[in-house]
Amino acid sequence: MIDIGANLTAPAFDADRAEVIARARDAGVHGIVVTGTDLASAAVAADLVATREGLWSTAGVHPHDAKSVPGGWLTTVEALAARDAVVAVGETGLDFHRNYSPPDAQRGVFAAQIQLALRLDMPLFVHDRDSGGETARLLAAHDAVPERVVIHCFTGSRADLDAWLDAGYYIGITGWICDERRGGELRELAPLIPDERLLIETDAPYLLPRTMPRRGPGAPAHGRRNEPAFLPWVAREVARCRNATPQEVGAMTARNARRLFRLPCRPDLHGSTPPATGEKPALPHASAAGEAPPAEGSETAPERSAAVE
Ligand SMILES: [Zn+2]
Repeated sequence: MIDIGANLTAPAFDADRAEVIARARDAGVHGIVVTGTDLASAAVAADLVATREGLWSTAGVHPHDAKSVPGGWLTTVEALAARDAVVAVGETGLDFHRNYSPPDAQRGVFAAQIQLALRLDMPLFVHDRDSGGETARLLAAHDAVPERVVIHCFTGSRADLDAWLDAGYYIGITGWICDERRGGELRELAPLIPDERLLIETDAPYLLPRTMPRRGPGAPAHGRRNEPAFLPWVAREVARCRNATPQEVGAMTARNARRLFRLPCRPDLHGSTPPATGEKPALPHASAAGEAPPAEGSETAPERSAAVE
């Protein structure tokens, strides 16, 4: 499985970032896309993923930060997007829930990033909250390429979901689905997402899955902090809602992530060398640990064994 959205540059991970990545690997996570949310975090993310196998990142400006972009910011995003293992433009979008940036600033910064993604032929990692449909309208107005857009951390209504799916976008599901108080609607909508449009993510350090035990064995060791190692809890709940197995969800969402982000051929979190052509192989580790996905690759199994042996 692949975590398509983790804020690994957050200060919450400063003390133990390497251990966090190692724990994700041990939990059967094959890859992590590290979210860049402003120029500084996108640069740190690009540095982080440049030297580590199984990590990729995004470069962009979150709507919360739209008001504080310096002159020439788009050139900086473009330069970051050109770096090795940076695979998407974003996080970008509209958030009228708190309006940390004025809506007009958000619209301008979002539109510029849509156009940049189109020009670079890169995916867009989109944040949408309480935009009243405006995020969808802006994407459509700029002719965003459907199979190059992911609506990350989807928590919207049936109408919202229908609009995204009609447009052909990918949908990212976080641990919001594990929240017994707020996740009810998402649990009902999760089965409506077509197999080939579904993605999973932790949005760590936020959104700790509430299905995890609070104490005792298996409880998170760092209070309320979420981390990519907890992605299996998201996969499990998504699987329960879709009447599938966690292995199936892990496999299909990993295939989707590799397709959307065109994850380049480079070693994954276990350092296995990918084949010269084709998609990144699954981790050999997963089957050894018993947890994950032989199926992660049903489609890549031959390549995987070739890579391992
Ligand atoms: Zn977001």
